Amino acid sequence: MRSAAFLDRDGVLIADTGYPHRPEQAQVTPGAWAAVRRLNAAGLFVAVVTNQAGVARGLYDEAQVAAMHLWLRAQAAAAGARLDAFAHCPFHPTEGQGRYRRDSPRRKPGPGMIEDLLRFFPLRRDGSFLVGDRDTDLQAAAAAGIPGHRFPGGDLDAFVAGILA
Ligand SMILES: [Mg+2]
Repeated sequence: MRSAAFLDRDGVLIADTGYPHRPEQAQVTPGAWAAVRRLNAAGLFVAVVTNQAGVARGLYDEAQVAAMHLWLRAQAAAAGARLDAFAHCPFHPTEGQGRYRRDSPRRKPGPGMIEDLLRFFPLRRDGSFLVGDRDTDLQAAAAAGIPGHRFPGGDLDAFVAGILA
């Protein structure tokens, strides 16, 4: 059983430029891969947890989310960093189109993505934490009973080093 670092995607690993969904739109945060390497070296499972209401809004589809995450995983790997898992929530309770309009416990501030990962992988809640840039990230962490750390921008590795210290 390992503890996990749950990382928000937009505003943490890459800039939140407004529904980025293609690799050429991804502005990787300074220190992002060094931060993931640091978490890997600390023995933590590293999981990305990201609301992707752009799917609900019809801006892109889940195949594009999957392709973006494969690209991010490859970028990390090229830098010697390992992203162990990705979870995304494509739903939106009021703006979603068709089957994507619904309340989902996986959509942050709900804890569903964190809870699912804790269930699907051999992970322990104890020692796990989340890094996010919004209130809803921290609310999701609180609902899952783990600490949440608000990333204010800047160098992600320096921020993560401070958490692990
Ligand atoms: Mg964010």
